Amino acid sequence: MYNRSRQLFAESVQVLPGGVSSPVRAFGSVGGTPLFVERGEGPYLIDVDSNRYIDYVLSYGPLLMGHAPGVVVEAVQAAARTGTSFGAPTEKETVLARLVMQHMPSLEMIRFVNSGTEACMSAVRLARAFTGRNKIIMCEGHYHGHSDALLKQAGSGVATLGLQSAPGVPASATRDTVVVPFNDAEAIRRALTEHEGEVAAIIMEPVAGNMGVVPPVPGYLPLVRDLTRTHDVLLVFDEVMTGFRVSPGGAQALFDVRPDLTVLGKVIGGGLPIGAYGGRRDIMEMVAPQGPVYQAGTLSGNPLAVSAGCVMLESLRESWALAANAARQVANGINEAADRLRVPVQVTQAGAMFSVFFSPEPVNSYQEAKACSGAYPKIFWALLQRGIYLPPSPFEACFTSSVHGREEVDRTVTAFEAALSV
Ligand SMILES: *Cc1c(COP(=O)(O)O)cnc(C)c1O
Repeated sequence: MYNRSRQLFAESVQVLPGGVSSPVRAFGSVGGTPLFVERGEGPYLIDVDSNRYIDYVLSYGPLLMGHAPGVVVEAVQAAARTGTSFGAPTEKETVLARLVMQHMPSLEMIRFVNSGTEACMSAVRLARAFTGRNKIIMCEGHYHGHSDALLKQAGSGVATLGLQSAPGVPASATRDTVVVPFNDAEAIRRALTEHEGEVAAIIMEPVAGNMGVVPPVPGYLPLVRDLTRTHDVLLVFDEVMTGFRVSPGGAQALFDVRPDLTVLGKVIGGGLPIGAYGGRRDIMEMVAPQGPVYQAGTLSGNPLAVSAGCVMLESLRESWALAANAARQVANGINEAADRLRVPVQVTQAGAMFSVFFSPEPVNSYQEAKACSGAYPKIFWALLQRGIYLPPSPFEACFTSSVHGREEVDRTVTAFEAALSV
């Protein structure tokens, strides 16, 4: 069933560390060898052994319209024909910036970069420059890309590294990073008091998505916003994943909390490499060349990614509504199946993303997510054999798209019911 994938993996491990270009793809947390992909088709992924799966990975979030949607393919082809990069401004960057702002009015200015990692790293630099302070508070189990300062504790990817600095990251690079538990406003209050006058920003995923989907407990985000105001600290929402997934306006619209800075990526590139950071005009005006905070990029704002992003955001509301509907139906179906089978699960769903935790209790923190992760590999493989491709890690969210229709939802729920009975 996976012969060709196994052969290709045997080849790739000789030249690529772990055989992959990003760690989670290697199937380390579920065992076995990764599927090599032949192509994507709407909600389906087809591997090199011609197995066909309903895809809930969707490249870890960007593909809100599924694989290779006609409008995106056409936009990318048209852009490619007239040049893939110029190192000079194009009109489309302004168009994409305006489209982002329509959905997220807290972004008064935007800088485009090439990945979420780059955007988070740059937002931290900007926050430090703006406040003249160095400390950054982040939440346990949240992922803000792999820049040194934010790798102190970084969710899914480096779960096993615990609270130690990652190898290759000097202790000096994370000395100013303070890690607190998510969904614990008291912990933030304590950290702000302990480091009074030293904290530049709190950066967080407003709905955690890199320890599975863990929504904020009621009142948490408004309280964090109040605390940051009281202590005169910037609030940075990392909406690389939640931006245009939990609602058409991101988590900031859903919870009505306005951050000072927002980091974006994934969906805004329509499946091509992109990242962005933006927010209050007085802060963003510090970015070079308008201000003194240096940050640059050869391929930043390139016409391929920007064109794909424009097409994606032009139909965002429609795409989001369909994708969120699919996620809701899958979540309800799994809950009902688990009830019938008396299997304790917690299905968390936020718009077009969801997670299944094998826990009898609600999961609100990274420790709780970790505690129930052991049951995941078995269900992952049981579903894969039934044509359902979930992320190969219990700490990655599941994603739906606008082309995950009734048929895919029904087949997924049926497969879950069978897999839960195994
Ligand atoms: C994916 C992700 C990132 C990193 O984005 P890349 O484009 O993979 O560098 C940062 N923050 C969050 C919340 C993410 O989900």
